[in-house]
Amino acid sequence: MTLGFIRPETVYEAMEFLSEHKDNSRIVAGATDVMVQMRSAKSTGHAEEKPLWMVDITNIPGLSYVNFENGIVRIGAMTTHRDIARSAVIRDVVPFLADACRSVGSPQIRTRGTIGGNIVNASPAADSLPPLTALSARLRLISRKGPRDVALEEFFKGPYRTIIEPDEILEEVYFEAPESSSGCAFLKLGRRESLAIARLSVAVLLDVDESGKISKAAIAPGACLPMPARITSAEEALIGEIPNEEAVHSASLEVGEEMVRVSGVRWSTEYKKPVVCALTKRAIWKALGVDED
Ligand SMILES: Cc1cc2nc3c(=O)[nH]c(=O)nc-3n(C[C@H](O)[C@H](O)[C@H](O)COP(=O)(O)OP(=O)(O)OC[C@H]3O[C@@H](n4cnc5c(N)ncnc54)[C@H](O)[C@@H]3O)c2cc1C
Repeated sequence: MTLGFIRPETVYEAMEFLSEHKDNSRIVAGATDVMVQMRSAKSTGHAEEKPLWMVDITNIPGLSYVNFENGIVRIGAMTTHRDIARSAVIRDVVPFLADACRSVGSPQIRTRGTIGGNIVNASPAADSLPPLTALSARLRLISRKGPRDVALEEFFKGPYRTIIEPDEILEEVYFEAPESSSGCAFLKLGRRESLAIARLSVAVLLDVDESGKISKAAIAPGACLPMPARITSAEEALIGEIPNEEAVHSASLEVGEEMVRVSGVRWSTEYKKPVVCALTKRAIWKALGVDED
């Protein structure tokens, strides 16, 4: 199949093109996932993996931004991991998202790779997804038919599969800023310190009320479930508790149990289960302001 390449200058032009070529086009943002996938499709001979039209959206202005207005943080789909990690708003309001974006790949990958690509690629190990899930983020998708907003958790159908239509563009991801009193943490474990895809990760967002009890909890692990999800049983183990070792231990065990419930017992479970529990425990204490390191 011959490859075509177009670089629209406006969102409207991109939407028009996608609507006319929806069966044989593919959006390209930073291309850090697309290029790898195209090369591996070529080497394994999966011709159907090859798109006809590559629609490069990097020239479209206005899709890279971080806005914070009326308590809502909005991040344009073309915002790179580097820009998110460096954003004063993100570092101040949701530092665990800055940490997650800072942990992606290498400086080169962070400079090209976008949050939109990270979301739409839908890898179970994508680093931005656990914090965005803990934040109950929503996505705005646009097409010639108009915009539609979906909850991040409803966007995924499985590993590398989403509900996005071929003529849709992810415009932005947005979420309510957590209370200023809340604490958060993102921890990632790779096979090595840098340039490592997550072997496991976890994002925790907690709020403690005036009486010292945990009033809100959101816990979202990465790389251990087929798609992003919050572990409500773990959150329930914390809510209403004055932070204590036993409650934190129970919550972390719930994350390991849920991983096994959803993904079954695999060759890696013997390693992953205790490690995801330990990682969750550390993340909870970190979100509570107690760094165990
Ligand atoms: C060496 C290396 C290391 C990496 N390390 C990590 C890591 O540590 N953590 C991690 O999470 N990821 C990692 N990645 C994966 C990748 O860099 C990220 O997923 C990145 O965020 C993808 O963004 P992109 O802009 O390059 O997406 P692209 O490759 O351009 O696109 C990815 C997918 O999203 C679609 N898409 C992109 N933007 C839009 C949009 N606005 N609307 C609709 N569809 C869209 C594309 O069609 C494609 O299906 C790594 C990749 C490499 C090559």
